[in-house]
Amino acid sequence: ERVEFVGFFNQIIDRFEMNKDENMEFDRNLPKKNMYVWMDKDKLTQVLDNVISNAVKYSPEGGTIHFDAYSTRKQLRVSVTDEGIGMPADTVDKIFDRFYRVDKSRAREMGGTGLGLAIAREMIEAHHGKIWAESKEGKGTSVHFTLPLMSQKRRGNS
Ligand code: ATP
Ligand code: MG
Repeated sequence: ERVEFVGFFNQIIDRFEMNKDENMEFDRNLPKKNMYVWMDKDKLTQVLDNVISNAVKYSPEGGTIHFDAYSTRKQLRVSVTDEGIGMPADTVDKIFDRFYRVDKSRAREMGGTGLGLAIAREMIEAHHGKIWAESKEGKGTSVHFTLPLMSQKRRGNS
C-alpha cells in the first residue's frame, strides 16, 4: 500500500519514546514534507522495531539515539544511529547473516536469536532497497536503509 513514510516513522519512534529509559535521549531529524513509499506496513514495522530495539539494547549506558530520514530524487534514506557499544569493523557486514551475533557471551546476556537483521535485510531487499551498517567499537552504530520513493506525479493513481 501507499504509505506516507515520515508519519509512519514518527509513530514507531513515539511508541519507543513512551517506553524508553530516562537516561536515553531521542533526536529526530525528519523532513517536514511528505514522502510516499509503496510498502508492506507490517513488514517495515518489523524492520524498524528490530533496528530501533537493537539501538536501545546495545546502548547499555543510554546516550542519544538519532533518527534521520531524507530523500534524494528517487530514494528515501533512513538511518538509526546509537552511541552504544558498537562492534569491530570486520563484523559489521556479518550482522545481517542469520544467527550471527558479535560476541557470543555478551549476546547471550542480551537475549534474542540473532535473526532480527537477517529478516530486516530480506524485507528491505523485497522492497527493492538496501540495508547496511557502520560501527566503531565503543562509539556506536548506524544502520542505514533505502527504499524507492513513489513519484509525486503519480500520486493518487495508485
Ligand atoms: P534478535 O534481533 O533476533 O532478537 P539480535 O538482536 O541479537 O537478536 P540481530 O538484530 O540480527 O540479532 O543483530 C545481530 C547482532 O548484531 C547482535 O547480536 C549484535 O551483536 C549486533 N548488533 C546489532 N545491532 C547493534 C547495535 N546497534 N549495536 C551493537 N551491536 C549491534
Ligand atoms: Mg535484534
